[in-house]
Amino acid sequence: MNKTMTATKGAFPGVRHDHGDCVAGALRAAEELCAQRGARLTKLRRRVFELVWSSHAPVGAYDLLRRLARERDGAAPPTVYRALDFLRGHGLIHRIESLNAFVGCCAPGLAHAGQFLICSACGTAAEIDDPRLDAAIEKRAKALGFAIQRKTIEVEGLCPPCQARRS
Ligand SMILES: [Zn+2]
Ligand SMILES: [Zn+2]
Ligand SMILES: [Zn+2]
Repeated sequence: MNKTMTATKGAFPGVRHDHGDCVAGALRAAEELCAQRGARLTKLRRRVFELVWSSHAPVGAYDLLRRLARERDGAAPPTVYRALDFLRGHGLIHRIESLNAFVGCCAPGLAHAGQFLICSACGTAAEIDDPRLDAAIEKRAKALGFAIQRKTIEVEGLCPPCQARRS
């Protein structure tokens, strides 16, 4: 493969893609979104966001806390959790419940629940965000008189590079 692959929405990023591009793009999108909404992307919020985006594998809350504690004094857990809440509140990151971890959103600013294919070998998560899935769940829930509180879909499996490694 001679071309650098860049992660796009709905795709598994290539093993050798330029992740710096992903991080730069995500930061640009986050800054724009915050500016539009008059929300402040403080230094800590920005750093937490960067750490969440350190790869395409969801980052555990505990891991985040440990990394932040190493690099700055005073990043107490409540402060970090508030920064995570801020980022989630603005749809910049998603929480993967099954892993108690966070991952950057590929389409911030657009209302969506978050649908993920998560590789159980390398941890990489691809956001699929298919409105048809969303509509199907809404419809069934409504038919059953069910009030939805959270709609994140987390599907476990093997990503293409990990399948290739195993065969
Ligand atoms: Zn990337
Ligand atoms: Zn998203
Ligand atoms: Zn994988």
